[in-house]
Formats: sequence, structure tokens, C-alpha cells
Amino acid sequence: MKLESKYNLGDVVWTITDPPAPRVWVRCTFCLGYEDPQSSFEARTVIVGDDGRKVDCPICKGNGGEHILAGRICWEVAESLTIGLVQVKVTGSSIEETYMCKETGIGSGRVYYHTSLYSSNESAQCICDMKNSILEENNVKA
Ligand SMILES: [Zn+2]
Repeated sequence: MKLESKYNLGDVVWTITDPPAPRVWVRCTFCLGYEDPQSSFEARTVIVGDDGRKVDCPICKGNGGEHILAGRICWEVAESLTIGLVQVKVTGSSIEETYMCKETGIGSGRVYYHTSLYSSNESAQCICDMKNSILEENNVKA
């Protein structure tokens, strides 16, 4: 049996990522983020009743606001890596190809499947563009 892998030791490959979408802080419109100066907690926002009693804002739970998504999630080329370990596992009719890279640890570190690595920055960018256009289509339909 002759085993061949998509990549070899020393090959430079690229990965892609969908970084978390940026978020912005939006102040609570109910309590306006009013902070109780006597609160023993930091930045607890309260509603003060006519009788002077205070309760945590029921809308923001005393947080004064919330972080909301600002912008959409986009795929982008993450980094280039150097193959440092190649594993090809054959069981019955399935073949599993995994890699570890010098930059992320060999032996212990991140394991990459061949399907998540790309042979050039351009091919990685091409996959990102395709995934982003699918996201764009789904956003238009939603
Ligand atoms: Zn509030």
C-alpha cells in the first residue's frame, strides 16, 4: 500500500477563519444606564421608585445596556503555516489526512484536516469569497 498526502513536510499552507463579528455597546433605553452611586457592585443600573426603593433595571438586568452585533461575519484568510507533521490514517474504506504545523505546535497543538488547508493565499481567498457570497445571499433572503 502506498500512502500519499495532499501536503508534505515543509509545505506552506493557508487557513481561513470567520472571526467574531464586531460588537458595540448600546446603552439601555429604559434606565438610560443610570448607575446607583450607593451600589456595592460596580456599574449596577437601577430604577428608583417613588418611595425611594431601588431595583435593578428589569430590561438590562442592571447592566446598563448590552453588546449587539455591529456588522456581519466574513470569512478571511487567517495565516500561513508550515507543515511539520503528516498523518494519514486508513481504516477500511476511509482515509483521514491530518496535519500539524510548526507555528501551532507539533505533537501537541492544533490538528488540521486537509480540507481546512489551502495551498496558496489565492486559493484560500477564493474559498473565503465563495463563503462570503453564500452569506451575502442568505442575508438578502432573510
Ligand atoms: Zn436598563
